[in-house]
Amino acid sequence: MRRIKKIATIFVGLTVFATVGIAPAYANFVTHVSTYCDYERVCLADSAAHDWGAATGPRMTSAIEWTLDGSYDTTALSISGPKSHSTTVDVWYKFDTDTALPANVYGRYTCQAWQGLVCDHSHILLNSDEIASWSDDWLQRLACHETGHSVGLTHPNVDPDGDPNLSISENYRCMSLGFPGPNLLGPHNVSHINAYYG
Ligand SMILES: [Zn+2]
Ligand SMILES: [Zn+2]
Repeated sequence: MRRIKKIATIFVGLTVFATVGIAPAYANFVTHVSTYCDYERVCLADSAAHDWGAATGPRMTSAIEWTLDGSYDTTALSISGPKSHSTTVDVWYKFDTDTALPANVYGRYTCQAWQGLVCDHSHILLNSDEIASWSDDWLQRLACHETGHSVGLTHPNVDPDGDPNLSISENYRCMSLGFPGPNLLGPHNVSHINAYYG
């Protein structure tokens, strides 16, 4: 049931995209032509050097490190961290202590500083209450999914480029809605990352 609610939440976000006339991001990578980045308008990261830091406690931080080292660092991206928070860090993971996420929204990417369609500094808010009882495997899945937004990856399920559902979980893995796939990037995700940042 939670998965269904989450999907519903994300559909609401995509309706906003349509309403303001921004083209949907096809092929699981950002292609919209908005003039800025903000909440739910995913932008590209500013370079292949992707620095990160986290204030998310030992379990979530290890899950983040696991997915960054095990999946993202095998792409054209060069991952380095953990670092302290500053506006030069590309992605900063934190719990939703100051701004609570709605129940059933487990994580949310927001760009904090951008130039055009390039995000200089992003935050990933994680729902500390909702994920407190999750297994390491699911924490890794969440880390993989939200990190994908920080490098321009979008959700494939809602605007797939003609791929049948079966290939969605294999090709898109953790970027699928509800992230039912393995806790790693899929080949489709990796090819987009490498094409842009390589
Ligand atoms: Zn910040
Ligand atoms: Zn997402």
